Amino acid sequence: MFRFPFTRHRRVFKPARPGLGERVSAAVGRARPARRDSKVLASRRDWRLWFGLPAALVVVVAIVVAVIAVRSSSGSESSSTQPSPAPTPPVPSSTPAPTTAPPGVAPPVVSKVPTTDPVVFFTIDDGLVRDPKVADFLERHKIPVTMFLVPEAAMEGEVFFERIQKVGASIQDHTQNHRSLTGLGPGAQQREVCGPVDEFQQEFGRRPWLFRPPNGFYNATTEGAVRVCGLRDIVLWTGATNDGRLDLQHPGGLQAGDIILMHFRPDLLENLQVALDAARGAGLKPAPLEQYLPDR
Ligand SMILES: [Zn+2]
Repeated sequence: MFRFPFTRHRRVFKPARPGLGERVSAAVGRARPARRDSKVLASRRDWRLWFGLPAALVVVVAIVVAVIAVRSSSGSESSSTQPSPAPTPPVPSSTPAPTTAPPGVAPPVVSKVPTTDPVVFFTIDDGLVRDPKVADFLERHKIPVTMFLVPEAAMEGEVFFERIQKVGASIQDHTQNHRSLTGLGPGAQQREVCGPVDEFQQEFGRRPWLFRPPNGFYNATTEGAVRVCGLRDIVLWTGATNDGRLDLQHPGGLQAGDIILMHFRPDLLENLQVALDAARGAGLKPAPLEQYLPDR
């Protein structure tokens, strides 16, 4: 039986990450000697004054180069036609995080697609309730949706999801077990994020490249895991449907590029109708998110 804490998605803002200056300060701080001899300290102050900052910068650059080198050496795995298995050994929390992306290479986080095309994007999560009338509705109105599924639910409803897939939908990554990622260490996050990638490729014929964190919660470690797992974008939302109601994060009605969050729940058919009515009322049309966030 598939179980996980079922809560409505909420938008969350990630905490700011330390800037380069803070990293340099931290590096210099760690290098500080324990001895208190005044002459030595004075000379070390001079040393720090003239060489400390450049030296710290060199250390930071060396770390970045090392990370890039490690990634390049493992590139043959990720570009191979037979990707490496997702599970990896647990990583103790005391070791440096292997999945933390170096500065400047965090994946894009997309809540709204910057486009002037008259389009909106319907995204449907989890996969627990599979009402055939939903598939009928999507087929009848030719609505392409993006499905962020959890593997166990996806496999249980394979025929149902394949039917929706044929309308122009894609099946993307929503973690292995729908665990709250921010409470997990790097190894556990990587297993959660990488888990569905090979499985979906095998079952649905295409590797996912978009990622949505459960409940919208993520941190810098998640961003690193997304990169390591070969995914491209973190997808959030600007509107959500619940019990036949559409709530937007901005004033006014739906806007071009809005991403709407829905769930495979008993209220989905009603929510789809409400979202479609709102889109039509705003002169917008549901479009495939995958065309705007391609697997580049
Ligand atoms: Zn979810």
